[in-house]
Amino acid sequence: MTQLAGKYAAFNQQFIAGVWRDGRDSTVLQVNNPFDGSLLTEIVQADREDLDEAYRQAAEAQKQWAATGPAERAAVLHRVVQIFDQRREEIIDWIIRESGSTRLKAQIEWGAARGITLESASFPARVHGRILTSNIPGKESRVYREPLGVVGVISPWNFPLHLSQRSVAPALALGNAVVIKPASDTPVTGGLLLARIYEEAGLPAGLLSVLVGSGAKIGDAFVDHEVPKFISFTGSTPVGLNIGRLASGGKHLKHVALELGGNSPFVVLADADLEQAVNAAVMGKFLHQGQICMAINRIIVEDGLYEAFVTRYAQRVNTLKVGDPDDADTVIGPIINARQLQGLVAKIDRAKEEGAKVVVQGDVVGQLLPPHVFADVTADMEIAQEEIFGPLVGIQRAVDEAHALELANHSEFGLSSAVFTRDLERGVRFARQVKAGMTHVNDIPVNDEAHAPFGGEKNSGLGRFNGEWAIEEFTTDHWISVQHTPRHYPF
Ligand code: NAD
Repeated sequence: MTQLAGKYAAFNQQFIAGVWRDGRDSTVLQVNNPFDGSLLTEIVQADREDLDEAYRQAAEAQKQWAATGPAERAAVLHRVVQIFDQRREEIIDWIIRESGSTRLKAQIEWGAARGITLESASFPARVHGRILTSNIPGKESRVYREPLGVVGVISPWNFPLHLSQRSVAPALALGNAVVIKPASDTPVTGGLLLARIYEEAGLPAGLLSVLVGSGAKIGDAFVDHEVPKFISFTGSTPVGLNIGRLASGGKHLKHVALELGGNSPFVVLADADLEQAVNAAVMGKFLHQGQICMAINRIIVEDGLYEAFVTRYAQRVNTLKVGDPDDADTVIGPIINARQLQGLVAKIDRAKEEGAKVVVQGDVVGQLLPPHVFADVTADMEIAQEEIFGPLVGIQRAVDEAHALELANHSEFGLSSAVFTRDLERGVRFARQVKAGMTHVNDIPVNDEAHAPFGGEKNSGLGRFNGEWAIEEFTTDHWISVQHTPRHYPF
């Protein structure tokens, strides 16, 4: 690991309304390295008064920011990209130590966050209004695209830097102000690190605040506060459903983007290339210990290839190195916290009780959970129905393509998905019938590109990120009509 020094070494304060300071709550958050338990930082948490201050200052700062020209906003984003490049190793090290990411995953996350920053730097010049025709004589009809105002961002712990930045960068680029509430496991990479980067990049004070506080204490107020006009939430489906209810049923109606849980099916049709499908199923399941919303949750193999797939997959999975995430060849690092680990162990026990056949297993050591693979899984088993979010997976047998599709769609979720076949058009036909926001033919379901639409269907969420879809999400339309000649009214 790089020895951290200077202002990127310690993050023990909040960044509220342009000032680094303690929160006003009486509780202190301890942030630990999930691999070795070492203490990374302690932060005095934020309370509702801090929240109010951050939102009000953001609303004030946003007015001037929205009036700046596109080049000025783009320049800040470009400086952020430069800092990402200059501080690449420090950023990657923080991701490893705070979220238990392997070096490979941390590098991927750094790249994704950098990518959306660069993409967002193009947004100020890409946002445009329209002129419409009118049925009314003498009327000129214009549609202006305006910033929303203040955006509240709530992010999870699994890809904290990227999943905060994919909202923060477009929101700021498009003339909004932002308040982030990072997850309690990852306050640095989910927020404070970004605050420092934007500060170094010269973002005017007050436009970006980071509030470290418990979801239970400040979560509802964060969503229901009168200032934010948009809440961008990435996290679990139960919390997201509650946020959707609050945003539409609280005192102040607002836009929401909800990027929630997944249960990605990975379908292998009988004509697939076995080796390619197995390789993809290893990467698509075990990157970041399976703690990815798009990670493979169910492997569905058509009858003709089933036995061969199970045998080869088990061979490959047994070779994966479990251990220190900072070692270059480690594939499976620690589970984020003890509660998540307990939940995963309970899922393993339940799969065994329900009669799934154990194909790969191992013993828990500290926070390390080795891969577990189950075969002969059926659609009604918990391991098939629930989001797993860990290094376990079940393999289901499909009698034919139609059955594979039925199994793939047998879920309340619809985030990502994948299908393997040698017949690419067959793959596309299959893909189009999967009820999901994203389906990849002959690739893993874990894909995110800064210019391609990212989002889910069903209980996986509402809204799309990236590219022009983010421009839509982080702005709103204002129809302004001008009556050039006196209008004749019927009375
Ligand atoms: P989580 O829902 O427990 O927490 C997410 C965030 O919400 C955290 O910042 C948390 O502090 C906050 N929160 C918790 N209770 C809150 C409340 N009452 N009000 C407001 N905020 C509250 O999720 P997690 O465990 O951090 O992350 C894992 C989940 O996130 C998985 O379900 C995963 O699929 C999902 N996820 C989705 C995407 C996506 O893009 N669709 C990406 C990554 C993760």
